[in-house]
Amino acid sequence: MKKELLRKLPKVDEVLLSDDIENLIELHGRTLVVDSLREAIDFYRNKVLKDEINNFEKEEVINYSIGLIHKKSKPRLKRVINAAGIVIHTNLGRSLLPKEAVDSMVMVSEGYNNLEYDIEKGKRGSRYSHIEDLIMKITGAEGAVVVNNNAAAVMLALNTVCENKEAIVSRGQLVEIGGSFRVPEVMKFSKAKLTEVGTTNRTHLYDYEDNINENTGVLLKVHTSNFKIMGFTEEVPLEEMVKLGHKHNIPVVDDLGSGVLVDLSKYGFIYEPTVQESVRKGADLVTFSGDKMLGGPQAGIIVGKKEYVDRVKKNQLTRALRIDKVRIAALEATLRCYLDEKEAVKKIPTLNMMLMSEEEIKKKAQRLKRKLSGISKDFKVKLGEDYSMVGGGSMPMEKMETVVLRITSSKYSSDEIEKYLRLYDTPIIVRVYKGEVIIDVRTLLDKDYDIIAKALKSYENK
Ligand SMILES: *Cc1c(COP(=O)(O)O)cnc(C)c1O
Repeated sequence: MKKELLRKLPKVDEVLLSDDIENLIELHGRTLVVDSLREAIDFYRNKVLKDEINNFEKEEVINYSIGLIHKKSKPRLKRVINAAGIVIHTNLGRSLLPKEAVDSMVMVSEGYNNLEYDIEKGKRGSRYSHIEDLIMKITGAEGAVVVNNNAAAVMLALNTVCENKEAIVSRGQLVEIGGSFRVPEVMKFSKAKLTEVGTTNRTHLYDYEDNINENTGVLLKVHTSNFKIMGFTEEVPLEEMVKLGHKHNIPVVDDLGSGVLVDLSKYGFIYEPTVQESVRKGADLVTFSGDKMLGGPQAGIIVGKKEYVDRVKKNQLTRALRIDKVRIAALEATLRCYLDEKEAVKKIPTLNMMLMSEEEIKKKAQRLKRKLSGISKDFKVKLGEDYSMVGGGSMPMEKMETVVLRITSSKYSSDEIEKYLRLYDTPIIVRVYKGEVIIDVRTLLDKDYDIIAKALKSYENK
């Protein structure tokens, strides 16, 4: 019985001769088609061997393999819809880029460009030259250099000024950010020796001063980003660290993490130290991310005193951590928006989403609700108030008031609906809270509305 069934399994060579499969080979290539056929046949063979089925049709196996072919031929990295209301969602690719940045990325990818070519001199140029002046102008710093990401920027800054020397850091700032950036680990790779001072909740200026010796290489300040200690706390302000450092001729490095270039407190957010402020207060090197609140591509930006930035540029590690042309293009275009703050707020999606007015959010929510008017009676859709998050380890305490759609069903659990939406052709990432599926419209793009509506309307035929 089993043997008979196994004999019924189609042979790869046989199936390859059919017209349908030939067409698929034309479209997707022979390797992918053959792999999928083998996988489908194996799948059915295993089912027979494990007595999970006692009959099947050849057609079934072939259809299963065609399903696999379609699945495998799609890119694994794909667009998803962020309906979770977390603006800088690290798992979903952090910041969206302004249109200008996207155009610029395409432009430098499609054709040759002057990445390292000085057109005026007709000689070799520097890849950093395209963004250096712009960053200096916006931040007020004497020098700037850009690398792969902020983790690299911190490592590079420390390695440059503190190799085999001691870096003094407050215990309250030895944080882990996003599960992969841990200050002590990064320090190890930079070959700086960690000297922890103070306590978790309180560190005083004398804690730094008492630990300074002839082998001290740097005073490091780390923005605790996604972590907040409340109550009886004390941190030494940057300007005091700078004063102390300079008295002893020791540079001060400030890892800002998110690196805001616009003071968002005037838009009602809690005050977050800007890059300009760190520069003004005299930090020798300041490091921050390109794709957090700055709203650009993944990058690590180092700004500061010319003397130190020049040393960073000469560090051999800079070559290993360098940023590619595509992201330089995106960063230049994003930074250009900052030359006029009003433009920045309008054009940069991350800022735009954070600063979206209540009225605009309400309109977006109503628009989505209207689009959902035709869905099955088993679903209930209600508008409600809720909070969005900034994300990316930035402003963890900041809750932005938003309007959400709360979806419940008499037939399906919220977890089932969440899973269905997540596995949809264009995955839709939502929140689930207390048995409701929550769709936050703050992070939706124009083209997302119809897809969400279509997904929910076709729920029954899934
Ligand atoms: C996010 C963050 C980093 C890491 O930055 P990446 O750009 O993700 O490498 C480092 N330091 C702080 C304080 C951060 O917030």
